Amino acid sequence: MTTHTDTGTPTTYSARPVPPSALAQLRVADDAGRACVPYTAVEGGDPLRCCLRLSVPGESIALVSYAPLRRWAAETGAEPGAYDEQGPVFVHAAECGGPAPSEEYPFARAGALRALRRYDTAGRIVGGRLLEIPEATGEGFDQAFAEAFADPAVALVHVRAVEYGCFHFEVRRP
Ligand SMILES: [Zn+2]
Repeated sequence: MTTHTDTGTPTTYSARPVPPSALAQLRVADDAGRACVPYTAVEGGDPLRCCLRLSVPGESIALVSYAPLRRWAAETGAEPGAYDEQGPVFVHAAECGGPAPSEEYPFARAGALRALRRYDTAGRIVGGRLLEIPEATGEGFDQAFAEAFADPAVALVHVRAVEYGCFHFEVRRP
């Protein structure tokens, strides 16, 4: 079961970046209502949710507050209510091309800890799990997503960094 995203990613499940329409708004004011403040990445290594890769030194980036479930709900008509959350994500400060085709899941460093939080079609949390990314990073994610979507109630999964709790990317039911 291999699907292809519009970015050409040949992973089993599609890692979705922050969509261009949301990025255009976030680059003005973020989901917390704060103005976007661009700065230059000095060391690089910031996980960019627009391009699903790490920043490199010299790039103009911004840390903005993003509400992934609210954005998804606006598309689908769901009403997540109290499950709505927002948190910090790095993005390019100006329009970018989005993710390049990749054969790997984003930010998939072996040994890193991720929380995979599951949501139903109403936007309610229906469980989740901790994933320590194994050496075979693709297989590790594939298995964890397969396990999540084995529950017919699960519509989408948010992948988050455990230490910062910040949103990395979204995977929807294929
Ligand atoms: Zn970008």
